[in-house]
Amino acid sequence: MGDYKIQLLGKVIIHGDIEVKTGLMIGGISSSLKIGGVDISVITDPWGKPYIPGSSLKGKMRTLIEKKEGLPINAAMTEKEQPWRHQCQTPEDYQKCSVCKVWGIIGGGDFKIPVLTRLIVRDTYLDEESITKEMKANLELDFTETKMETAIDRVKGQATGPRTTERVPAGACFKDCELIYSLFYSSDLEDLKKVFEALELLEHDYLGGSGTRGYGKVVFKNLRVYCNTVSDYESGQLNLSPVNGDLKTPSEVIKNFEEIKKKIKEKIASCLPAS
Ligand SMILES: [Zn+2]
Repeated sequence: MGDYKIQLLGKVIIHGDIEVKTGLMIGGISSSLKIGGVDISVITDPWGKPYIPGSSLKGKMRTLIEKKEGLPINAAMTEKEQPWRHQCQTPEDYQKCSVCKVWGIIGGGDFKIPVLTRLIVRDTYLDEESITKEMKANLELDFTETKMETAIDRVKGQATGPRTTERVPAGACFKDCELIYSLFYSSDLEDLKKVFEALELLEHDYLGGSGTRGYGKVVFKNLRVYCNTVSDYESGQLNLSPVNGDLKTPSEVIKNFEEIKKKIKEKIASCLPAS
């Protein structure tokens, strides 16, 4: 690999809340180890509260944007699997592919060019206060509801089950989700739009399991978008004022993306490190 330099220009920090509109099931352990006797339980943090793993959110966003862009589905985790996701196969394709640049690629070492993942998605934790007293009175477990379902074996036409699924109830809110987007090249700013597009698409899709059966509708709200330049990091002046003003939802951000992009661009340009 030849000599190259990677120059960080700044980081765009996206904070927001994720509100659950229909029962959410992101799977944890499937056993009777958990109390409550559920067959399929939600993933919980060490304090027993449900959370949304960053990997689930990031993966779902990627899947949706891959389809929206019509990218070739050509990669699998193992050689035995059918391809189920997209990954550019050559450095030439990669250089032109927003999705692989933003969401990253696995094992890009063969490309002999810097392969940087722009987007980091953190785990998001449940806001306990969003589970109100009234909701609690109707919940079977501390933070979740249980739903009895009968699965149908389509070949035999027989019911298998019933099984009990644990869900985060509608109305719950996961607070302060954090997405971090690193800017290395000026073109990365254009690709940032894909992140908000993926959030828009997710609002019209689902998070977690059983989405085609009504589970997992979520909305993103209270978005705060910050831009920290390299000199902001040098002076500790971080997340000072949002660049998105009153534009609090993914579609509002998209509608005004050019304006937001301009603000970030100016901020970056004003403190580019001397090269
Ligand atoms: Zn690609």
